[in-house]
Amino acid sequence: MIEKIREWVSKNNERLISTYCHLHENAEISWKEHETTKYLCEQLKLLNIPYETFSDHTGVIGYWGDAKEGPTIALRADMDALWQKVGDEWKANHSCGHDAHMTMVLNSIICLKEIGFTPKGLVKIIFQPAEESGNGAKAIITKGVMDEVQYLIGTHLRPIQELPFGVASPSIYHGATTLLKGKIKGLQAHGSRPNFGINVVDSLGAIIQAVNSIKIDPTKSASAKVTVVKAGGDNINIIPDYAEFGIDIRAQENEVMRILVEQVKYAAITAGSINKAKVEIETLASMVAAEPSLEIESIMRATIEKALGEDGLAEPPITPGGEDFHFYKASYPNLQATMIGIGAGLSPGLHHPEMTFDKLALQNGVKIFSLAITTLLKQESSNYVR
Ligand SMILES: [Zn+2]
Ligand SMILES: [Zn+2]
Repeated sequence: MIEKIREWVSKNNERLISTYCHLHENAEISWKEHETTKYLCEQLKLLNIPYETFSDHTGVIGYWGDAKEGPTIALRADMDALWQKVGDEWKANHSCGHDAHMTMVLNSIICLKEIGFTPKGLVKIIFQPAEESGNGAKAIITKGVMDEVQYLIGTHLRPIQELPFGVASPSIYHGATTLLKGKIKGLQAHGSRPNFGINVVDSLGAIIQAVNSIKIDPTKSASAKVTVVKAGGDNINIIPDYAEFGIDIRAQENEVMRILVEQVKYAAITAGSINKAKVEIETLASMVAAEPSLEIESIMRATIEKALGEDGLAEPPITPGGEDFHFYKASYPNLQATMIGIGAGLSPGLHHPEMTFDKLALQNGVKIFSLAITTLLKQESSNYVR
């Protein structure tokens, strides 16, 4: 099978590039991936693969095969670009490589179709909107798309500092992220009579100190820091009565994040109200950390070795960045889910307006995804439990 896949990939590089260029040139931001959705629907139609779209948001799910004949697996590619200044122009820009992820997933299906593979089971092809805004995976989960799925495979290009071109890793250990937003209410007074007021800037100072003094298990990787402070008006001679602050919290493990968020909230509310100011905190955004799925990781290890050779297998990078892919496993704890890291010589970095990578890496992604599908959906029906 891998020989057939290799042959198809080497003959079809132009097609990979043309899919990629189309998606790259038509970049759209989170929840606005309308043209991208339309294009992917057209492609699935050409392949005779039934698909589902949603009336209330972008994204498309293709359904290839029959769940009665074997396991149900899912491939997931994110679709959205970032809104950023590129040169002198503000525009939607695929600087996170989601255009490459869609290209790899779509073309692995085209490859398998053209070499005559028929899945013994069902492949759900998930083109997920809004990864960057952190709520696309949750929308797909709400629609029940992940019900019955046993194996889920996603992918992300890795920066050159994490993986060199030509290799791939069986998973990516993203960390957890929580963003807190706080408001402080005090009391205005004349600058000459501070005793009549409640100065929210004093609260901010106390909150920064309190957050910086939190101690967590030193063997665990985590950080919490105040990253936004806003207070006061144009008059320096007024005791200000309103402030806002933001706290960015990172942890490599979900349990450490839970403890840290609890401590940060307690510290900020207690320290900020020491002068009787009122402090309120809300969670603006949160992403869970990757939880390892050992079975699918070991299947993907073998798949990468087969697809790229022994030298093509890299150890999973551990990265403090966040990724909403990990909500799938958080919602379905028995799901075997993993994200393949693709080494692509990517520089200067993800989200950089001038991000660039070696397009030959697309071929590696197609080889790995195609081979993974043939491996997972050729099992005898007695080998799985529905
Ligand atoms: Zn991103
Ligand atoms: Zn991304």
